[in-house]
Amino acid sequence: MFVTKLLINDEAMDAADASTFECLDPLTGDVATIASAASPADAARAAVAAAAAYPAWSALGPTTRRAILNRAADILLARSSDFIAAMVEETGATALWARINCDLAADMLREAASMTTQVTGELIPSGIPGSMAMAVRQPAGVCVGIAPWNAPIILGVRAIAMPLACGNTVVLKASELCPRTHGLIGEILCEAGLPAGVVNVVTNAPRDAAAVVETLIAHPVVRRINFTGSTRVGRIIAETAARHLKRCLLELGGKAPFIVLADADIDEAVGAAAFGAFMNQGQICMSTERVILLDDIADEFVAKFKAKAETLVAGSPRDGNTPLGTMISAEAARRVRALVEDALQKGAVLVCGGHADGALVDATVVDYVTPAMRLYREESFGPLAAIIRVGSLDEAVTIANDNEYGLSSAVFSRDINQAMAVARRLETGICHINEATVSDEPQMPFGGVKSSGYGRFGGNAAIDEFTELRWITLASGKRQYPI
Ligand code: NAD
Repeated sequence: MFVTKLLINDEAMDAADASTFECLDPLTGDVATIASAASPADAARAAVAAAAAYPAWSALGPTTRRAILNRAADILLARSSDFIAAMVEETGATALWARINCDLAADMLREAASMTTQVTGELIPSGIPGSMAMAVRQPAGVCVGIAPWNAPIILGVRAIAMPLACGNTVVLKASELCPRTHGLIGEILCEAGLPAGVVNVVTNAPRDAAAVVETLIAHPVVRRINFTGSTRVGRIIAETAARHLKRCLLELGGKAPFIVLADADIDEAVGAAAFGAFMNQGQICMSTERVILLDDIADEFVAKFKAKAETLVAGSPRDGNTPLGTMISAEAARRVRALVEDALQKGAVLVCGGHADGALVDATVVDYVTPAMRLYREESFGPLAAIIRVGSLDEAVTIANDNEYGLSSAVFSRDINQAMAVARRLETGICHINEATVSDEPQMPFGGVKSSGYGRFGGNAAIDEFTELRWITLASGKRQYPI
């Protein structure tokens, strides 16, 4: 049996009261991992350890930080079989998705390593004779990262890689649904040579989530919080952070629209929509949830999309190359089923899929979705694509924007000017022309608008998130003060 402990100050330790919780394999119901159940006091210990490590780590030059982060990327890849096994058992993901997680997470560590020399400042002309004024970026302090289970290696690494590169120390609050996978991230960073206390990992039982998170946000040494997860919990994080006047970055839910215009390359669009809607059983914040089709090409698109979706059958990720693995739980599968039933009762047409066997759900496509249906509006976070047919480009844009979320989107058209005009009108943080809604690269400004959150991971935007911009002047000569 795998046991994951808290990582505090470079030590794997039990919770102070030795309590633990179980993380279950979503397919078999067997215990996948037993993990330490931190109390708020344990979480506070992790924050204090991070604060104690901060002065030395923040004072190091970029060269050492860069070397450690690059080494961590190598170790992550060398230990990818451990990561893949943990992810498959804890979340029911396919080995393919786990492998994609390892590769992108290693890239994120390398990109963060390269950014260590980009934490720059500027000289600003001062009106005071002899005064040199500077805008200087400095690390912010202890950063708390809270990551979810659905792309656990990517999102766990993303929560802490750029904060570390900028010279901060971190506490990673693991998801209750993948404590071993998140614990491994702490392990490889320590193995890479991070000094004690620079990275700390806290695992907690679901019942303690609210208290542990509140303790971390409220702790006086904590200066920044980043959260990736649902909009419901994101609101709680934002409210708590606001109460303590702390800056936070929120990467929340999505309901990505995928618009296919009349002149699109239909085969390309079908491939991109199927990947975007069904990769990792649709459990990606950027998943294609709404396929918006111009009437002229709708029948052709649906016929080809159906043929592709019917090949995407769910199965045990342990049986080799099943295209889809299991959903995170049978309850999540029931939620998908309820969205389908509601839509069918209100006049939608089932194109394919639709049944759930425990946590297994095949790729499901529902056509003729209208605003009266829950599926039109609610994030399904499952292998479920809703097709909405429209009569004009303007109607496509209106429907795409008729949603509280605004993370990713896509538009397919051979007329690049037309596609660009649509992209500019979409109320989303991310838009891909002639590509899937699911796409991530570590150097890109990743993030959403509206109820998908605020703030950006990736590239220069992340430097702003995880540093303080300070004004420092250096005076030479004598000043005449007015009093
Ligand atoms: P979740 O919001 O249910 O859980 C996330 C975390 O919140 C967990 O670590 C949990 O401990 C904590 N939490 C739960 N209740 C809390 C409370 N009352 N107070 C404080 N913290 C609490 O999310 P999830 O189900 O793990 O992830 C799925 C969601 O994440 C989806 O909505 C998905 O779209 C979103 N997501 C967004 C991105 C992005 O980059 N925008 C990426 C992946 C997932």
